[in-house]
Formats: sequence, structure tokens, C-alpha cells
Amino acid sequence: DKRAVDNSNIIATNNDACQCKLYAIERGYWNDPYLKILAGSIQQERRTPEISLGYYVRVHGVRYLIEKFIKLTNNDCQIINLGCGFDTTVFYLLDNENLRFKHFVDIDFEEITELKSNKIHRLPSLRNKLPMDNKSLKIPCGFHSSLYTILPADLRNTTQLDNQLKLLATNSIIDFTKPTLFLSECVLIYMSNEHSLNLLKYLSQTFSQCCLFLNFEQINMNDRFGEIMFENLKQRSCHLIGMESCQSLNSQCERYKNTNYTSSFCLTLNEYYKKYLNINEKRRIERIDGGLDEKELLEQLFEHYCFSWAYRDENNLGLNKITF
Ligand code: SAM
Repeated sequence: DKRAVDNSNIIATNNDACQCKLYAIERGYWNDPYLKILAGSIQQERRTPEISLGYYVRVHGVRYLIEKFIKLTNNDCQIINLGCGFDTTVFYLLDNENLRFKHFVDIDFEEITELKSNKIHRLPSLRNKLPMDNKSLKIPCGFHSSLYTILPADLRNTTQLDNQLKLLATNSIIDFTKPTLFLSECVLIYMSNEHSLNLLKYLSQTFSQCCLFLNFEQINMNDRFGEIMFENLKQRSCHLIGMESCQSLNSQCERYKNTNYTSSFCLTLNEYYKKYLNINEKRRIERIDGGLDEKELLEQLFEHYCFSWAYRDENNLGLNKITF
């Protein structure tokens, strides 16, 4: 079945993200005791400092904006992590008593959600973090507790996604009118532009009062360096079918404008790194692997990733304040 083969290539990208993150965590770029528990131990493959710095910035930037969102909503919010893989954000938040939320939902293909759910069920170090829900909702290939649900869905199929989210809404687990943050880290790039647009539109229509979509992904893939990145990914049989749609900062913002978001922003990792990252933190992480010989490679790499976000804020909660 061609479709299954295609999906398995996309699913394998989670393994790659986990391995790079585990490597950087072991080197001390940031702290995350949970990824190792979820994703197993690391393969002994050395990563360049540029790659580890890239992952650091990705995790750091996304967490920074999540925290701003939670604070702005006074903890009265939902977070939905699209194409979550083995991402551990929910455990990071649960460990931080200033960062509460009403519900956190992880979504991915069922091959991933089943593995993630089984691990959480089996491992007390994860399971004990999660207060159980007396509603005891059973989700096939997924997981449910009072603060956290794992849902299997193909994000290209908004009917399936809608059914899954309605299951939560009718059980009062999520609320379509509550402030909701959508996360997508290196996910849309694996979909066609049409599928991304459908997904973005479905979410802004369904959570129409107050939602923020936060995206991190590859960009500027049409120059020489981008072509090399693309070839590298292809060798690992990942086809970046969304690539043609996100070639520039502009096309990122266009995508939101065409799907009912009222404001949108986009910046490259270079811009973030140079303008917004704390100088002491920058010094610390640049020293971990003995310093960078020259910055050119880092700058080239960082020109090919971006943060972008967009929102609808019908109740004037102040989502315009969510920025670096
Ligand atoms: N977001 C996680 C992170 O940053 O660590 C995982 C990133 S990994 C590169 C991409 C993830 O998106 C994979 O887990 C993959 O299965 C998921 N994904 C891609 N397309 C998807 C789709 N159509 N439906 C559900 N999940 C999808």
C-alpha cells in the first residue's frame, strides 16, 4: 500500500528529531529528563554544534511563546500539539507550577500515538505525573487523563480530525470557545500546500474566537544551501512536499492570511538568534562544543528555518502581545 509507505517515511522523521534532541540534551544544551524515557537511548552519532544549536533555539523559542500565551490567558487555555512525535512539552509544563493549562492534546499518526500512549501507561515516572480522569474516556491507540490526551489523527484529513476533537468537546474535555494554542514543529512541511491550508482553515473556523497558531519549519529551500538540505532529507526518503509553499517569509504569512487569521508574523532563526536570544545564554551554548570555528555555517543553516505565528482574537485578549 503506497500510502502506508509514504506515511512511514514521514513517521520516521520523529526518530530523527528525537535523536538530534537527545544528543543536544546529553551535551547540556537544555534539560529534559523525559525524552530519554520516551524515546529510548541515543544512537552514537555525532552531531555538529550547528545542529544542536538549531534544536536548542527551536525548543527555547517555542517554549518562550507558550509561556507568554499561558500567562496572557491566566492559565485558562488549551494547547494542541500537531504532529507531536515524542515531544515532551506537556511534561515540561506539568513540572512548572507557574504554567498551568486546562488541557493539553498531542496529535500524530496512530503509529506514533500508540507507542507514546503505551509508554506513558507502562512507565510510572511518566504516568504518575498525570492525574487520572474519573470520566475514563477510552481512545483507541491513544491516551486520556484529566489534563492530557493523546489523539491519533492524520492532519491531512480534517474530517477525521474534527471527529476526534468533537469527541473531546462533547465530553467537556476541550472547549472550542476557549483560548487555544496550536503548535506545529516541522510538520506542515510534510504536507502538500493544499493540506496545510485546509488544516489551518479548519482550525481557525473551529476555534474562531481565540486561537494562536505557532509554526516552526524549514524555509528558503530554493537557494543552493536549501537544495543541499533538501537532498539530504530525500536521501533519508523524506519528501518535503510542502516545500513549494514555504519558500519565503512572505509565503508563510500569506498562508495565514488566506485561512482566516487576522494577524501573522514570521522571522528566520538568524533574526531570532541575533536579536532576541539572551547574550549570556548564547555564550553558554556556543561554548558547549568548544566554540564555533566560524559563524558562517550557523548563519546559513539559520537562514533556512523560521518561526511563524498567526492568530484570531475576537475577544481582544491581547494576542498581539505574544511575540519575542
Ligand atoms: N513536532 C515534533 C518535534 O518537534 O519533536 C515531531 C517532529 S517530526 C519532524 C514530524 C512529526 O509530524 C512526525 O511525528 C510525523 O508523524 C508528524 N506528522 C507529519 N505529517 C502528519 C500528518 N499528516 N498527520 C499526523 N502527523 C503528522
